[in-house]
Order: sequence, then C-alpha cells, then structure tokens
Amino acid sequence: MVAQVIDGKAFAAKVRAQVADQVAKLKEENGITPGLAVVLVGEDPASQVYVRSKGKMTVEVGMNSYEHKLDVDTSEEDLLALIAKLNNDPAVHGILVQLPLPKHLNEDLVINSIDPAKDVDGFHISNVGLLGTGQKSMVPCTPLGCLMMLRDHHGSLSGMDAVVIGRSNIVGKPMAQLLLGDSCTVTIAHSRTKDLPDVVRRADIVVAAVGRPEMVPGDWIKEGATVIDVGINRIERDGKNKLVGDVDYASAAERAGAITPVPGGVGPMTIACLLANTLTACCRANSLPEPEGLTA
Ligand code: NDP
Repeated sequence: MVAQVIDGKAFAAKVRAQVADQVAKLKEENGITPGLAVVLVGEDPASQVYVRSKGKMTVEVGMNSYEHKLDVDTSEEDLLALIAKLNNDPAVHGILVQLPLPKHLNEDLVINSIDPAKDVDGFHISNVGLLGTGQKSMVPCTPLGCLMMLRDHHGSLSGMDAVVIGRSNIVGKPMAQLLLGDSCTVTIAHSRTKDLPDVVRRADIVVAAVGRPEMVPGDWIKEGATVIDVGINRIERDGKNKLVGDVDYASAAERAGAITPVPGGVGPMTIACLLANTLTACCRANSLPEPEGLTA
C-alpha cells in the first residue's frame, strides 16, 4: 500500500481562507474586527520567527494584530500588569504569550493569569479542565489541527483505535482528550510504555508527538492506518540540515493508508488553528454563532 499524503500546507491554507471569509462577514454585518495580542519576552530567535509569522498571518486574514515585545529582564509584575490590561481590552479577543519564557518568570502563573475566554493557546488550567470534562473550551492549536485533518480524512472517528505517543500538556494529553471526545478508543504511550511497537501496531490512528527523529519505523504501523506526525526534529544528513518527524516517513508511507509529511503536515495547521481560535473567541465574546468546522 502506498499512503495518501495528507497535505497540511494546503489544508491550513483552506482553514485560513475560511477564517478570512468569516472575519470579513463579522466586519460587514457586525462591525467587529477580531484582535489577537501576542506577547514576546526576550529575544529567543526561534520565538521571534514564530511571532513574526503569527502577526503576518493574523493581518492576512483581516484581523488586528497587537505585538508586545518586552525586554528579557521584564519583571513578573510588569508582565502580569500587561496581561491584565489585555484581559480588559475589548478590542483584544485572543492573547498568546510566546513560550518558553525567561527562567525568572513563572510560566504557570503567567498563563493562568490570561482570561480563559481569551486563552487562544488553550493552556489555561480552566480550559484544560473544560476539555477534560467534554465542555466548551479553547483547544490547544496543534492537537486541534491534527483533529481537523483526521476528521477531514475519515469523516467519523467513532470506534477507531488511536495511539498517541507522548503525554505532554501541549500536545499528547489534549490530543488524547480530543480523540476520546470523538469516541476513539485511546491509548497514551510515553517513555515508560512497555512493548511500544505492539501498542502502535494495534492502532488505526497513530499520533506521534515525541521529539525523537524518525523513532517510529514503518513496521510498527498497521496496514492502512492513518499516521499524524507532530514531531519537528532538526538533523544533519549527507552534510545538509534537514527537518524530519518522529516517524520514519519512507517506510511508514509503504504501510499507512494516509500520512502527514514533515515539513508540510501538522506544522502549518498550528498557526491556522490559532487564527481559528481567535475567531471563535471573538464570536463567543459577542454572543454570535461559532464558525462551523473550526472548533472541536
Ligand atoms: P515533550 O518533550 O514535552 O514530550 C515528549 C513526550 O514523548 C513525553 O511524554 C515523553 O515521555 C515521550 N517520549 C520520549 N521518548 C520516548 C520514547 N522513547 N518512547 C515513547 N515516548 C517517548 O514534547 P512536545 O509534546 O512538546 O513535542 C513533541 C514533538 O512535537 C517535538 O518534536 C516538538 O518539536 C513537536 N511539536 C510540533 C508542533 C507543531 O506545530 N507541529 C507544536 C508542538 C510540538 P515521558 O513523559 O515519559 O518523558
């Protein structure tokens, strides 16, 4: 079997176009422009790149982008004061604090100071609890992107066996909750899981979120399974820098029914879902119907 490639780049472009349509409608019919505030503390080069591309895409879909760049030695008090101001600003519907924060700042405290209704990363403890109990919440962007691609490919996921490899708070755990919400039978695997190859071989859906280059070989994949590769790993091969996932793409593509490539799979969906979440937050704040197909 040769797997169908799930083109995350094209899918993300479709999601952004859907968001842009809805934003145009909101402006025209309700005179509302969704706004996303991104807070960056310090000058971490990777974070600067992410923040720049988030700002660019926010503007491209017609939303307002508010960038707050703070010195690396900003005090916790000043950062919390900025978040309080953004929480109270009716023009701001989504707030994202770019992680990681410098060591002297308490990440949990900062994230939990964001108004949960504006927490477009879905990391606030209230949103974690709401998702875990199957209630309306803000859903973390990367797992939401994975869920959208799976729903698009399969229609219903009900009754499927899903294995999520990785149990982080930002990917593995919320991914498992979302799959459970769609009535999959879910196994969460991690570094202490026994017989991981056999666990993975049972799965109709494999989501790999580990951070180890090409750790999952093709012979762990059940014939026809759908493989979602969240991993982004920089390696050197044949003297060149390369991005690879957590799955050995070449061998897995020979057995899977469908697979996401790296790059061009899950990655582009993350920012698209951040924009979708900002739109959702804006609709909820104004008691308007939520955009269809853009939430969990
Ligand atoms: P974390 O490091 O927080 O979590 C990794 C998880 O993998 C842990 O739960 C760990 O288990 C598990 N793990 C480690 N080694 C093994 C092993 N040998 N066998 C089974 N499980 C193992 O990573 P993240 O969740 O933050 O990210 C995972 C990957 O996804 C990274 O490559 C990251 O770059 C990428 N990523 C991509 C995004 C995108 O937009 N596409 C967004 C976010 C992340 P344990 O808990 O036992 O230690």
